[in-house]
Amino acid sequence: MKTPIVDCHCHIYPEKVAAKAVQGIGAFYDVPMCEDGTKATLCRETKEAGITHSMIFSVATKPAQVGSINSFIADEVQSSEKTMTGLGTLHPDSEHLEDDVKQILALDLRGVKLHPDVQGFKIDDYRCLKIYELCEKYQLPVLLHTGDKRYDMSNPNRLRPICEIFEGLTVIAAHLGGYSVWDEAVLQLRGFKNLYFDCSSTMAFLPPEKTASIIRQYGAEQVVFGTDYPMWSPKGEVERFYALNLTPEENELILWKNAQRLFRLEQVS
Ligand SMILES: [Zn+2]
Repeated sequence: MKTPIVDCHCHIYPEKVAAKAVQGIGAFYDVPMCEDGTKATLCRETKEAGITHSMIFSVATKPAQVGSINSFIADEVQSSEKTMTGLGTLHPDSEHLEDDVKQILALDLRGVKLHPDVQGFKIDDYRCLKIYELCEKYQLPVLLHTGDKRYDMSNPNRLRPICEIFEGLTVIAAHLGGYSVWDEAVLQLRGFKNLYFDCSSTMAFLPPEKTASIIRQYGAEQVVFGTDYPMWSPKGEVERFYALNLTPEENELILWKNAQRLFRLEQVS
């Protein structure tokens, strides 16, 4: 049996808006986007890359989009023949957050993806506290975009107090805890037992030894693999991951075991 690989970080968009959405993200980060953001391309490319399971999601920039995006993700999961699992979206300005969370649970989405810089809130904004409270109550892990040295919305210093207050909340801090502020992230975020990290949109920017050292400072049992599709090609990210030269035990934990436990995945291979 080949090693399962779970890609914990994939954005997908409906066909008719994908081109525009992908162009928007590329412009926001000033990074050339590798892929087109559709599920069809994701399916094809993950197969080629040896990825066996993908976590898919999309982010609502307005509260009114929450319900339809969550239904869209659930439909895409349904038609994926058990190769995909979804995360839901929430928006802090929604007037019925608890109902939104109940929709996520009813659709069997296994957590929530939040993107502070794109959705327009700071991680420790009082408007978000209700989200963390509900996700803690219903045991939904929160995958949180973290880090951007150009802004002050999602940096690790804003996540730290949330981890201190919501001790029962599981958070996955994307991009090893702080895109473009990796050293600061390690200083602020090491040592929380319910805080995990994904390695997406990191390996393209740092030398492999540096990425490996950050992973080991957090501990491989707290790191999961992710590609940040459509920003990078799945195949390229898998190659970058193996180039980190971690031990076989660390690879297993990061490539699938941690993700399987975190998102309660029945099937990963
Ligand atoms: Zn993301």
